[in-house]
Amino acid sequence: MNELSESKYVVPVKQVEKSLKLTDQAKAELHSVGMMDDKGKLKLKGVSPKMLKRMKLEAVDCPVLEKEIGFIQCYVCKNFHSRITGQVYCKGDPL
Ligand code: SF4
Repeated sequence: MNELSESKYVVPVKQVEKSLKLTDQAKAELHSVGMMDDKGKLKLKGVSPKMLKRMKLEAVDCPVLEKEIGFIQCYVCKNFHSRITGQVYCKGDPL
């Protein structure tokens, strides 16, 4: 069974000029799973500082939250399945 077929949405990743701020809730979640240190610095496993810098300037129009959010927040979202050729495969469950 192809897991991608479980994805409800395919959301294009777009470039933004200014990085979108993480919400306090997203920060708290990142912190609780050890992906952010006490200084608020992100530590994503397997993501190099260069990639992180690029990810900060990317965003998606989230179909679940119905608003534009930074790609980093999307990347750590429980609905995030994978990213293939600039598109996020999103499970689309209510958040
Ligand atoms: S993975 Fe999460 S943040 Fe990203 S588009 Fe889907 S619901 Fe929105």
